[in-house]
Amino acid sequence: MNLVFPSHPVATLPVVGGEARFPVRRIFCVGRNYADHAREMGALDQADGREPPFFFSKPGDAVVSGEGEVPVAYPPMTANLHHEIELVVALGSGGANVPVEAAQSLIFGYAVGLDLTRRDMQARAKEKAHPWDMSKGFDQSAVAGAICPVAASGHPAAGRIWLKVNGDLRQDGDLSAMMWKIPEVIANLSTLVRLEAGDLIYSGTPAGVGPLLRGDALEAGVDGVGTLHARIV
Ligand code: MN
Repeated sequence: MNLVFPSHPVATLPVVGGEARFPVRRIFCVGRNYADHAREMGALDQADGREPPFFFSKPGDAVVSGEGEVPVAYPPMTANLHHEIELVVALGSGGANVPVEAAQSLIFGYAVGLDLTRRDMQARAKEKAHPWDMSKGFDQSAVAGAICPVAASGHPAAGRIWLKVNGDLRQDGDLSAMMWKIPEVIANLSTLVRLEAGDLIYSGTPAGVGPLLRGDALEAGVDGVGTLHARIV
């Protein structure tokens, strides 16, 4: 096929214990999946679990990864960049209208990730009922560690999920507090779009989100999955 310019390279993530990398297709994110975070955002109908899950997206090439400490550029047009530590689900196969019982079979592995957010821009968007895209889907907004294959991680449903900024513990939750469990998230999302191999799903953040400054060092982890180091530059 003739292209008017060369096709863009696909974003990839390292895989623990192997040389082959994981090609990223799309990035989906679940909003307010932990009651304590929904409460701190003032979303009380979400916090009591009556609302179905809702989703937003980031471009596939918003993902940023690396060996050791990952440098992450402080984005323009915000004075309130927030961290959100999340368990990332990496799909190895796809499907539409996937039943909850079959959802785990789509999963290639799990990673530790950060859903970086322009909180000031998001607050203005909420006020005006505008889209969240530019508050969530900016360049380098999806930080991700290496993907731990299911063979090594199993399917983590409980365990600590935490984040430190400059050594101070800011977020400290447990995966078991997710209101919508990973298989339910996959099943629900697959009614909205046909999921495909390479898709990433950021599964929500526990309470304790807060601002980041240039120079901040982040250390984050999920039990059984791994740890992630990043620096805001
Ligand atoms: Mn999030």
